Amino acid sequence: MHSASSIISKVAKAKQYSDEPDRIQFQDFTVQVRGDNSTHTVSFQNCVWSCTCNTYQEDNFCAHTMAVERILGVTIPNECRIGEPFSQSGIHHTGLM
Ligand SMILES: [Zn+2]
Repeated sequence: MHSASSIISKVAKAKQYSDEPDRIQFQDFTVQVRGDNSTHTVSFQNCVWSCTCNTYQEDNFCAHTMAVERILGVTIPNECRIGEPFSQSGIHHTGLM
């Protein structure tokens, strides 16, 4: 049995951790991105992105990978970000515009 106080302390820790999202760093995921024309699969494995769209094959990044980066924010390790670097002041663009 879990005591009520141990549950309360877990909830408090979870709240603290979730208020500091850079504690969480994605290593591996696959998502579907519903684009205007078709749905593409974006995957991320140990800092290597991929997307099934044509733009990605040419440029090694695309609106789909960038959209995922924007949504996941600091949970994508900074050194793994392509196209959408993240800074404390917010999302900014470097060299791509
Ligand atoms: Zn794409």
